[in-house]
Amino acid sequence: MTIIDQLDPIFKPRSVAIIGASSNPLKLNNWITISALKSKFDGKIYLVNPRVKDIQGFKTFSSVVDIPADIDLAAIMVPAKLVPDVMKECIEKKVRGVIIFSAGYKEIGEKGIKREKEINELARKGNFRIVGPNCMGVYSSAVNLNLTALSAKKGEVAFVSQSGGYGLEIFATAMQNGITFSKFISTGDKADVKDHEYLEYLNNDPDTKVIVLYLEGIEKGREFYNIAKKITKKKPIFAIKIGRSEIGRIAAQSHTGALVGEEEVYTAAFKQAGIIRAYDIEELFDYLRAYLTQPLPKGNNVGILVGSGGVGVAAADKCAELRLKVPPLSKENQEILKTILPEFASFRNPVDFTGSGAENLFGNWGEVRDIFNDKNIDSWFFSFPGSGFSGIKDIVKSYEPIMDGLQGLTRIEIFGRDDAPFIAAGNEKDETIKPLLEKLLGLLFYPTPERAIRAIAALNNYREFLDEYASVEKKFELKGDFKVADEIITNTLKEQRTNLTEIESKQILSVCQIPTTDVFLARNQGEAVKYAQKIGFPVVLKIISPEITHKSDAGGVKTHLENEKQVIDAFNQIIENAKRYNPDAPVLGIAVQKMATQGIEVIIGTKRDPQFGPVIIFGIGGILVELFKDISLRLLPISKTDAEKMVNEIKLHRLIDGYRSYKAVDKNALVSILLKISDLTQRFPLIEEMDLNPVFLYPDGAVVVDARIILEKSEAKQ
Ligand code: ADP
Ligand code: MG
Repeated sequence: MTIIDQLDPIFKPRSVAIIGASSNPLKLNNWITISALKSKFDGKIYLVNPRVKDIQGFKTFSSVVDIPADIDLAAIMVPAKLVPDVMKECIEKKVRGVIIFSAGYKEIGEKGIKREKEINELARKGNFRIVGPNCMGVYSSAVNLNLTALSAKKGEVAFVSQSGGYGLEIFATAMQNGITFSKFISTGDKADVKDHEYLEYLNNDPDTKVIVLYLEGIEKGREFYNIAKKITKKKPIFAIKIGRSEIGRIAAQSHTGALVGEEEVYTAAFKQAGIIRAYDIEELFDYLRAYLTQPLPKGNNVGILVGSGGVGVAAADKCAELRLKVPPLSKENQEILKTILPEFASFRNPVDFTGSGAENLFGNWGEVRDIFNDKNIDSWFFSFPGSGFSGIKDIVKSYEPIMDGLQGLTRIEIFGRDDAPFIAAGNEKDETIKPLLEKLLGLLFYPTPERAIRAIAALNNYREFLDEYASVEKKFELKGDFKVADEIITNTLKEQRTNLTEIESKQILSVCQIPTTDVFLARNQGEAVKYAQKIGFPVVLKIISPEITHKSDAGGVKTHLENEKQVIDAFNQIIENAKRYNPDAPVLGIAVQKMATQGIEVIIGTKRDPQFGPVIIFGIGGILVELFKDISLRLLPISKTDAEKMVNEIKLHRLIDGYRSYKAVDKNALVSILLKISDLTQRFPLIEEMDLNPVFLYPDGAVVVDARIILEKSEAKQ
């Protein structure tokens, strides 16, 4: 059965039994019962309550099995301890889907978790799926079914909310803001149906054009990511994810582990899946309203037309912050404006028509209109401060003749184009200028310029995402023989180790054609000298012990060794330091390697996130990496474009592009390592974490100077 077959009985039932329907107007059960009865549901509703004979004039049944008709959906509102018995009756009745409103499940701990297991087992037995438990119901426009405590307005937005009460409040607020719905789904504890399954269903739901998610957590991150990425190419997904505080950043063995927390992974997953993320309800509504009323801009150039310089600067600042451009208008359009506006106005962009220019602007609409088609501009922002000024009413009144001419015109008639967002900002409580911009010119109106620009940026980001994924890229795949790598991994696990030494780690990288410094394992001073001579001075000596993963912390790294004597001294010192650092650590030997010329130090790392699976990071290395956390992160696998974006995204990317005495580095070499690591991680699922730290970047090429690979713990037999 597909997810559509499984969830259709819940969202498109022909008959619904409300089990635990209540006649008490102070109870939620009653509100939902009334909503359901009042909604113009296409099918039939039956009420089940053994204690009362009728509710609102509707006959009740004492059990679902007594209903003299087939039941598709059971809405269960009885106390948790009675739910299993009710479910058994539903199985007997061959009910096809269930919503459990009742609380008392995993939120109450051990006992609740047992209950959750029990209801899931019953659902499998009855061959139906469960929405909830601990939820606030469902609205589905497809059949006009309303099992929520609110009256719903039919539209094209599906809202899936993990929070029940708050979810309903958002649902209500959205409707007050003119947003209308195809579905409201309160997912509750998500004991059975998970987020990715709701998404899959909504992907195929013709009534739903836009999806909004309110999430506290995601259970099946990878599945969620995969389906979300597919959906966003057709329908946008807006999401709020709460619970961003620092938890779960457990003591990590690698730098990557320490750098990558839950929040960073969510951010990457949402971004890569093209989800439009809002950080609060205000932002969510701002973006939703923009998407539902405006076209997507074709590019990131914003035209700013304002009646006061200040608001123009505020808007331009926000544009700069959000990667939007504010290019000058075309010469012709600047000329048009010069003929109309006072000489002290600004004509380039932002265009400040000034308080005294307003009249001319509105008075010469026919000519001004042309500027909105400026080829350099993809979105327009308006503001006309002055609400509350004495005399403003008279001034705006003087525009009346012009306004009359614009009355009832479409956007294309007013501005000559409808392929660009037209967004305004100003005092929301104002009744003079706001109606002029909002009602007359049909502009979407926000209370501040920053919020208006932020909405333009959200639309533009989504358009960029769509453009990018329109071009499908060939997947990068490593070629070669991976037997050596397999052997290293198997042998390490056999030895009940999970930490690969630097030498083993570099061997695996070499198999994957990733450039590393050559390394030789010296077991005594003589061997160390022999290898140093073979490699050529200067060399580096490092401790090799599975128990010492941070080698310099143990005094286990000696660089710049120029001759035999220095090699011998370094050898002895390292052994001594290691003994002092951890007397029990077995020392396998000392690695002798070429001292690489200093390049730009970067870190590349991977780890497996418990929710979203493998991720990769890239950042500027050195001792400051953990302090600044200037990293870019992606879910794996990545494409070449992803890799290039990762490189350009970090704050210190100018260092890579060449800065002062630093020459620009070989970006291709860097991108190539990122792609190889991506494929390597896919190829070896036993690799849990990987740290290439540092990697030296040069104007021509790159080399991995230190590598640490950690295997999955459960695979090392204790
Ligand atoms: P760890 O991270 O375990 O402390 P590293 O191998 O990263 O040890 O060594 C510490 C530092 O020494 C590196 O960050 C790098 O600056 C320098 N270093 C290590 N190996 C080399 C090498 N082969 N060539 C040049 N510098 C090196
Ligand atoms: Mg290191």
